Formats: sequence, structure tokens, C-alpha cells
Amino acid sequence: MQRLLLSLPTLGERRFLLQELDGHAELLVDPDDPEAVPRLLGSVLTEPSGAPVDVAGLLCVWRDRVFAALFQRELGRRVDSQAHCVACGEEYAFGFELAAVLQAQDVAAAATGLRVIEGGTFTLEDGARVRPPTVGDIAEHGDPDALAEALGGTPSGGTLSRDRVEAVLDEAAPLLTLDLETRCAECDEVELLRFDIVRYTLESLAAERPLLIRETHLIASRYGWGHDTIMALTRGDRRAYAGLILGERTATGLRSAG
Ligand SMILES: [Zn+2]
Repeated sequence: MQRLLLSLPTLGERRFLLQELDGHAELLVDPDDPEAVPRLLGSVLTEPSGAPVDVAGLLCVWRDRVFAALFQRELGRRVDSQAHCVACGEEYAFGFELAAVLQAQDVAAAATGLRVIEGGTFTLEDGARVRPPTVGDIAEHGDPDALAEALGGTPSGGTLSRDRVEAVLDEAAPLLTLDLETRCAECDEVELLRFDIVRYTLESLAAERPLLIRETHLIASRYGWGHDTIMALTRGDRRAYAGLILGERTATGLRSAG
């Protein structure tokens, strides 16, 4: 279990407990299932008291930063990925440190001078209001125009333009959905690539499914434990048991070879 303290100069602090991933949680990971995010958060994230988190009411900013913390703990501090160059057809690698992106976002947010008031809204210089979206807002308003209309408002009760709402939120409540400028190592072509921490984390965990099955097979073969028992092991413990079993096999192999 990890005590998580998230903060942004514009939004203040938010505390959570982030549980260890176990096999049951890893089996919930399906990047193409819209319900995968609430299910995964429901299984690993709680309030500091241990009470369940209201995922629909969770700010998207905190959702993304929870995923960043999960990614950093389970998969590493660096995002390393491959892109396919549209100009020359070659594959090239790109990557960045998540911590550096978070820090740059904190600096940009502080520079806005905005700070949420009660009810979770920002009040702009001309009295207009903008509210950072929750997970529930995104589910309710699939269309970006409808979402902007729900999040922004003028002092007289009118609507704010979508451009203005998005511009305020990009700086004051930034998500980890980034347009990255990458450069092909082969031909120097510059390409904008969309990076999304939630999708990237889910895809990275889903890509490890063969490893989960292999570790389960090793442990079941060696100890005879049932599937549920093995799935209830934390990811770290499961990996440690599988490592020991593999070590034993290697030692046995060496002895019989000698
Ligand atoms: Zn290229």
C-alpha cells in the first residue's frame, strides 16, 4: 500500500491510498473497455480512511496523476515508446521522464495565478467561471462542445467558448494527454504524437499478460495453489515466487548437466 499525496498549485492537495496491484486487478486491464478505468481504480484506489473513492466524482487531473504514480511504481519512471515514421516508414524510439512533465505542468499551473474556490471552480479576471472536469463529466458529455458548455459560464449565465474553456484547463488543470513533438531518427521528419497516460498504462499492463500467465503456471505447477490464491498475490510477490522457481530449475539443470 502506498500513501499518495497529489498536488497542483491551482487545485491544492488530494490524498489517496494506492493498493498493490494483484493478479485480480491486472485481469481487469483492457485498454479497449471504457469500464476498465473505473473498475481498476475501484480495486486499487481508496480514500486515506480506506473508504472507496467516488470515481465518477474524481477530477480527471487526479485520475491522470494516479495513473502516473501507478505507472512510475509498476513500470518505471520513463516512458519509452516506438513510433512509425509516415515519411520514410522506419521505426524510431522516443521517450521522456514522467516527473519532468509533471513538474512543467505544475510550473505552468502556478503561473496562471488561479486557484479553485468552493465548488471546485476557477473564477477568471472578467468574472467568468471554469470548472475542471470529473471522470463523470467526461462519461456524461462525450461531445467536446457539450463538455465545454457544462464546464464554463459567464457571470450573466451565458456560455463560454470551447476554446477559452480548454485554454484555461490546459494550464490550470492539465491532463496527461500530451501532443509530443517527436523526430524520426532516420529522416528527421517531425511528427506530433498523442500520448495518453491512462491508455499507455493500460496497454503496458495488458502487454504483460503473457508474463502473468507464465508466472501463474510456474507457481501452480510448483506449489499446487489454486488460480484464485495465485491471483490474490501482489504482483511483486508473484514475480518473486516465479523468480525463485526459475532459479531452482536452473540450479537443478546445472546439477544434472554436471
Ligand atoms: Zn522517417
